[in-house]
Amino acid sequence: MKSLYLGERAEKGLIKLGTVIIPGDKDLPSFSQLEQLQEIDIMLKELPKDDREGLIILLSILSLLPKFIIKVLLLIIEKGATVNGPIGSPFRLLNMGLKGPVFTLYYSNNSEQNQEILNKLNYATQINMKEEDLMLQKVKNNELIENPNQEQIEEIFNNAKKNQKALRNIPLSSRVKQVQNLLITIRDNEELIIKKIQEDTKKSAGDALVSEFFGVLDYLHFLVDNAEKALKDEKIKTPIALLGKKSRVYYESLGTMLIISPWNYPFYQAIVPIATSYICGNITLYKPSEVTPLRGLIEDLLLKAGIDLDFIKVIYGDGKVGSQLIDQRPDKIFFTGSVNTGKKIMQQAAQYIIPVELELGGKDASIVFEDCNLKRAAKGVAWGALTNLGQSCTSVERIYVHSAVYEAFKTELLNEVRSLKQEISKDGDFGHMTSHMQTKIVAEHVKDALSKNAKLLTGNNWDYESDAIPPLVLEDISEEMLIYNEETFGPVLPLIKFTNEKEVIDDINASDLGLSASLWSKDKAKCDRVTRELNVGNVSVNNVMLTEGNPYLPFGGRKYSGIGTYKGISGIRSFAISKSVLIDADSSKIEVNWYPYTEKKYIGFSLMTKYAFTKGLLNFVKFALKGIGLESYSQKAKR
Ligand code: NAD
Repeated sequence: MKSLYLGERAEKGLIKLGTVIIPGDKDLPSFSQLEQLQEIDIMLKELPKDDREGLIILLSILSLLPKFIIKVLLLIIEKGATVNGPIGSPFRLLNMGLKGPVFTLYYSNNSEQNQEILNKLNYATQINMKEEDLMLQKVKNNELIENPNQEQIEEIFNNAKKNQKALRNIPLSSRVKQVQNLLITIRDNEELIIKKIQEDTKKSAGDALVSEFFGVLDYLHFLVDNAEKALKDEKIKTPIALLGKKSRVYYESLGTMLIISPWNYPFYQAIVPIATSYICGNITLYKPSEVTPLRGLIEDLLLKAGIDLDFIKVIYGDGKVGSQLIDQRPDKIFFTGSVNTGKKIMQQAAQYIIPVELELGGKDASIVFEDCNLKRAAKGVAWGALTNLGQSCTSVERIYVHSAVYEAFKTELLNEVRSLKQEISKDGDFGHMTSHMQTKIVAEHVKDALSKNAKLLTGNNWDYESDAIPPLVLEDISEEMLIYNEETFGPVLPLIKFTNEKEVIDDINASDLGLSASLWSKDKAKCDRVTRELNVGNVSVNNVMLTEGNPYLPFGGRKYSGIGTYKGISGIRSFAISKSVLIDADSSKIEVNWYPYTEKKYIGFSLMTKYAFTKGLLNFVKFALKGIGLESYSQKAKR
């Protein structure tokens, strides 16, 4: 049957495109065998008229092109889609626009084997979960691992060792597909996931959506696209002195990876490290924060995505459980949390020489220079300080404003802050504090500042008890105040006046913490200069908290803010372990550097060394000749 919308030419184009994308093989029917093409009408009917006509024109053009040209075009589009930022956007749109109809049609037309087929093509379909799924239909309450005793913890590690072998049988390409399935599972269950995050954290729906839900999908998309590239064997240059040999780096699974996470972004801090660790082939043990455990959610999503829970274990419990897990000597620890706990973990891990990656706290500064767009800077700074109600490691906790624009910026900031709405609903800007423990710390910091002559410009109605802390803008800040030096982790915006670049850089660099910073100025040279001078791990220029927004950028802190980076290609590799390999041919050759060391060899080697490390063509020739001479001498050298 024919489609009502597509003309003959567009229909031909669609079949051609579909056949290029799904040519079929022995267990996969080709797209051309599709019988009910009219189902595309369901899709076309939903499209706005302009888009529908655009798609029909595109398909008509494709009908005129030979298949190999379409194949090349698709390859270019796929490559372009991996380019970050606005340049990649048109490619991504085209990629979706062309592949979307093909896969949807193919899926809706083919029978039960579809899920498997689409997995094979690295494209999962919709995986909708029902409310009951999140009520632990599969992972029953009594199957959750909660507060395990010593014996149970030992068993977890014994099983982890056993299961490493089974996991090794699942190739990287299959793990990538499973993570792609996880992406789809998460994408299709937004409402349930946001609800669960909000129940545990009391954050606003917008915060849960933007920073956790979108952030996770964005990262998984990056991971699926880049894991194979990051983990494939790497060819490494071999210097001329080792002529004839090959060098490689292999990226292998570490074994058992322990992930310990904090309470502020419980979904993001679960899925991002778990998926990376799993894709690297590690048995992954995950201990969420006892404050926001999202009980059962992670297991349910993994199961729905077809990932075996023997390979990823969620272990619920407090810090004591975390510490007991470390005593079982996992092969690496990825920890996100406070500086104090980070120090304890590093100390404990040191006993067993376990490598640790620490993503710790921050006291991030934003610098507002006199030449920036003040309105935009004020809006950005307000968001950077208040998103997640300030409970982010990279929250703006100190706002340095140039004295020339101090009053004007203050007015803009106050206008912005006063316009915001504290509500958990979809219409609210920020929610409540997740933990009352943290509310007490915020109260202590603010009271301390006020007792040392700081002025509170907003939020005077807060009773220092309620978890619904309003934004607290403060000025007249001085160095001896807690809010100047220590992580507050709440909606506190201290304004600090400065007059010159050096002074502000020195002040920021004097902190023990060095996670991120942001700066606002039209002067590109100044932005670059200040960025290079700041002793922090991440800098957003004319924006705020945005380095984390790009999964291609490695993320990590300096000084007390942590060790190591995750995300980006290097971040994927930090969940694996590298092995350096040098490959020589099996031959009878005796190497120059092997015994016997004779005087003749010594003189030859000494000259060769001199030529090798002295510039110039002549020296290179002398080096080569000496090398050849030494090689031949080494074959017969006798003492
Ligand atoms: P926390 O250090 O109190 O706890 C973090 C995790 O460590 C929890 O799961 C906890 O149970 C566990 N834990 C506590 N003591 C332990 C021990 N001795 N051994 C093993 N595990 C132990 O941190 P938190 O209060 O949950 O989180 C807030 C902190 O996390 C803030 O300082 C924030 O800046 C930081 N953080 C950093 C990043 C980053 O990427 N740099 C991201 C988010 C949060």
